[in-house]
Amino acid sequence: MNDANLNSINGADEQTSKTPRVVIVGGGFGGLAAAKALRKAPVEVILIDRTNHHVFQPLLYQVATSVLAPSQMSSPIRGILRKHKNTMLIMGEVTGVDKEQRCVFVNDADREHVPVHYDYLILATGVRHSYFGHNEFEKFAPGLKSLADAVAIRNKILSAFELAEAEDNVDLRRDLLTFVLVGAGPTGVEMAAALAVFVRTTLRSDFRRIDPTSARIVLIDAARKVLGTFAPSLSDAAEQHLQKLGVEIHLGQAVEKI
Ligand SMILES: Cc1cc2nc3c(=O)[nH]c(=O)nc-3n(C[C@H](O)[C@H](O)[C@H](O)COP(=O)(O)OP(=O)(O)OC[C@H]3O[C@@H](n4cnc5c(N)ncnc54)[C@H](O)[C@@H]3O)c2cc1C
Repeated sequence: MNDANLNSINGADEQTSKTPRVVIVGGGFGGLAAAKALRKAPVEVILIDRTNHHVFQPLLYQVATSVLAPSQMSSPIRGILRKHKNTMLIMGEVTGVDKEQRCVFVNDADREHVPVHYDYLILATGVRHSYFGHNEFEKFAPGLKSLADAVAIRNKILSAFELAEAEDNVDLRRDLLTFVLVGAGPTGVEMAAALAVFVRTTLRSDFRRIDPTSARIVLIDAARKVLGTFAPSLSDAAEQHLQKLGVEIHLGQAVEKI
């Protein structure tokens, strides 16, 4: 991989090579797959990501529940693309695309709105989480899409146990040890199960005034099944497994207000 920054690639005028340039925005699964597919192609590849690391999102819930450290599910993009001689990486945020001029605009730590020319553009910027019409829920339950999100959730969970340990009021203690997960899709189910295992094993003997195994883990979904999009046999098996772990499941109930 070549080294690059916005000084060396700043705009259409700077592109003198006749080799077609492919700009890929995003170093997630999509962007990396594109870069790998183009590794031997006669093109110059520029991959732009706002972070310098790839996040293995399917394992974020394990960071959020203290099973894995952040470093175990993220890798430097430069390391992943080290052997890609036709590829350069820019760490920066793409803020816009000009289709007529064939360039994207990039902000980095020092500069804003720097045009980077492309012949071909691949936008692989991922998706945002949805609150199904209840964006006001976001302040109570931020998303789980980045390492920072996962660490914030982990800290919130661990703080709840610390606050409960210091709390004299029995009702408040019970509230602090009640974890409600709204949405019994794959992420909600994984989080509920991992949290149940975490409180009943890892934290089991770590506190003196509270019993972590008494924590309530409540999973709610408007649908009538957990993992509603999965085959019925898998959905039933997941529900039984969650019940064995002590997760309270409330189905057919939509959360309207927090
Ligand atoms: C908690 C969780 C669990 C999941 N579990 C599974 C699973 O078990 N199995 C499965 O198949 N899938 C799972 N998924 C889904 C899977 O992880 C995603 O489908 C996949 O990561 C999407 O890849 P992507 O490359 O499209 O986007 P992303 O992985 O989101 O990558 C987008 C990249 O673009 C960068 N970016 C975004 N905007 C800009 C910008 N403006 N400028 C510069 N860079 C930008 C971001 O920094 C990021 O690196 C899970 C997802 C989550 C969140």
